[in-house]
Amino acid sequence: MQITGQCHCGAITFKATVDPSKVLLCHCADCQQISGAPFRAVLPTPVEDVVVSGTAKHYVKVAESGNRRAQAFCADCGTQLYATEADAPKVLNLRLGCVNERAELVPQKQMWGVSAMPWLGQLQALPLHAKGLASPLMSPGVVSPAD
Ligand SMILES: [Zn+2]
Ligand SMILES: [Zn+2]
Repeated sequence: MQITGQCHCGAITFKATVDPSKVLLCHCADCQQISGAPFRAVLPTPVEDVVVSGTAKHYVKVAESGNRRAQAFCADCGTQLYATEADAPKVLNLRLGCVNERAELVPQKQMWGVSAMPWLGQLQALPLHAKGLASPLMSPGVVSPAD
């Protein structure tokens, strides 16, 4: 499947040929902290199947095992674009949130359940407003998304 994506400010864009069966969710503490979200959705794609335009900044995360992972993001707007092997990139874990076709890319697996938020299963029961809530009281209304 062909996909396109970009950071929020548009300085970095990418296109790729991806395998939709590879989409996965990671609940590890690093993904939670680095993404700022309760979990992260990624699309692992061989580096030769991705064309990136623009220059991403890399933050190299060193795991307890010594494994070095480059976390690529836009230095201007902060959007996280992908992670890959820091020294010899083979697979880019594209961040699903900046992929335009993300609604069609349904996660097939989850990992790091040991640190998954215990309330994820309750989301289905929550009220879901079509658009934002009026701040700061977050009562139903219009306008601001939580960004
Ligand atoms: Zn940007
Ligand atoms: Zn993770």
